[in-house]
Amino acid sequence: MCGIFGIANQAEASRLAYLGLYALQHRGQESTGIASSDDEHVFMHKSMGHVADVYDEDTLAKLKGVNAIGHTRYSTAGDSSESNAQPLMVTMRYGPVALCHNGNLINAVGLRRDLEAQGALFQSTSDSEVILHLLARSQEPDIMEALKETVSQIQGAFSILLITKDAVIGARDANGFRPLCLGRLNSSYVLASESCAFDLIDAAYEREVEPGEIVMIRGDNLRSVRALPSTKTSKCIFEHVYFSRPDSIVFGRTVQASRDQMGRLLAKENPTEADLVVPVPDSGVAAAIGYSAESGIPFAFGLIRNHYVGRTFIEPRKAIRHFGVKVKLNPVRDLLKGKRVILIDDSLVRGTTSRKIVKMVRAAGATEVHMKITCPPTTWPCYYGVDTPTRKELIASTHTLDEICKRIEADSLGYLSLQGLLQAVNAKPNEFCSACYTGKYPLDFIDAIPDAKEAERQLDLWEESLKKTS
Ligand code: AMP
Repeated sequence: MCGIFGIANQAEASRLAYLGLYALQHRGQESTGIASSDDEHVFMHKSMGHVADVYDEDTLAKLKGVNAIGHTRYSTAGDSSESNAQPLMVTMRYGPVALCHNGNLINAVGLRRDLEAQGALFQSTSDSEVILHLLARSQEPDIMEALKETVSQIQGAFSILLITKDAVIGARDANGFRPLCLGRLNSSYVLASESCAFDLIDAAYEREVEPGEIVMIRGDNLRSVRALPSTKTSKCIFEHVYFSRPDSIVFGRTVQASRDQMGRLLAKENPTEADLVVPVPDSGVAAAIGYSAESGIPFAFGLIRNHYVGRTFIEPRKAIRHFGVKVKLNPVRDLLKGKRVILIDDSLVRGTTSRKIVKMVRAAGATEVHMKITCPPTTWPCYYGVDTPTRKELIASTHTLDEICKRIEADSLGYLSLQGLLQAVNAKPNEFCSACYTGKYPLDFIDAIPDAKEAERQLDLWEESLKKTS
């Protein structure tokens, strides 16, 4: 996952990009960078860390020009290091070019191997760098044509932004795995992973960049081409479950409305007698409000999140039980004491956090703790840009519902069905990728797994699952 933002033809472009990235911080907290251009040069600043810490007056003043793109990174391919921070910048026949990428390419390993065999020098371990190499190798004199050629060579999930000395370009893969939307700010166009980035700079949401579309913005002109043939889309349903902000429009629909519906449908599918509906903040909040409205059980903020936890914190020498979770979440004892509590969380991945939260709520005096999850059991890893562990670490792929319930020490455990989830996001037939719940991968993924043994194992499991589902 990552957040990307682009703006063209706007004074103070880099400052607006900085604000846009602020709104997209939740999509990646490892590193951030901005590249800007002024018709002659491309300037760049990037570093490990949060948006609030990486930029200051001096760095933004150096990011001159009327065009800018920016990135917040959460690594899913390549390690979390300075050399993998984006934008990635190079100089080629089209002049200086910088790239931001959200998603995971599934054929990057093979492409990189071929490029290296031909003498290409790579400067990072990120799959995104392959895109720049392919672009540089194109014989097309026009960058838009070169990008058309490039996007037809890469496979997998990509929402990308490029900046040249006088333009900003956005492109989205044909399946539309990751979001990318287009907005207007006076005479400018703006591009962002989520519309919440537009709100902060007073830009108006216009539409999604369509799957397979490339848009090139130069001055106040926008040129759009259909670069890839249209195919069945595979928009990531997890964007609506967890990843995106509820105040965003993602894939043309409001995330808040989806989560509210997830909560309502979960209450219908999985009713439980209780005194209180409590969200695991922040991602469980919207669904818990929906669950409470549908069930008539009062809603309460029984867990409070500390929003100021940095990337690292210094642990006390003497061990404190569940310190990691306690730093982030704290129960409100007055609310929970003596209550039968329904906890609403967006997902259960390894089960380790949930176990600690259930214990914490019980220790705060709850008499019963019922865990409800707003999506189906996560049983398959994602190869399209969400950081998920291998199958054996996904608790639901190796344990039954009862076993998971026991493991997290809850009184009961319920998940929203896939049908319920699709209904909650108002999905058209075959619009979404839900491979993390079904194992039905819309694209072959073998290249995306760097470890060969693990790749073979995953392929076996995948084939097994295909046999079962066919
Ligand atoms: P656990 O109980 O350890 O499986 O943790 C589940 C929690 O992790 C949920 O509350 C989610 O909000 C969060 N979560 C789910 N998927 C991800 C992800 N890909 N990256 C970071 N956090 C996640």
